[in-house]
Amino acid sequence: MAKSDSCIFCKIINKDIPSAKVYEDDNVYAFLDLSQVTKGHTLVIPKNHEENVYELSEKNCEAVFKAVPKIARAIKATYEPEGLNLLNNNGEAAGQSVFHYHVHLIPRYGKGDGFG
Ligand code: 5GP
Ligand code: ZN
Repeated sequence: MAKSDSCIFCKIINKDIPSAKVYEDDNVYAFLDLSQVTKGHTLVIPKNHEENVYELSEKNCEAVFKAVPKIARAIKATYEPEGLNLLNNNGEAAGQSVFHYHVHLIPRYGKGDGFG
């Protein structure tokens, strides 16, 4: 269910807020993170609003992780990183700041790339 009135990522899905699209299918949307901890830092989200891993349905989990390898390959082809981290924060104490489930894809370029 969309929560476009209160959720920034639902607003992005609805195109009420602009974003740099990386990938889209019926159930999933991926876009560049505003803060770009490294070049090509991408967020993958289900189109249906679910807060975090505790709420995540099998359907959305499957849709997101079916898309992740395709998006990872696209990032690899575009940015030519040396590696790639997948990261998912659940709950404020774990660093979650947007409460719409998302996976970070963070390309890595070696020591001093700004992450980790
Ligand atoms: P979290 O801290 O919840 O794991 O990650 C939320 C991410 O969403 C942050 O990395 C933040 O930069 C990103 N973010 C927050 N608001 C926006 C926005 O309006 N547009 C985009 N593209 N990214 C956003
Ligand atoms: Zn949402």
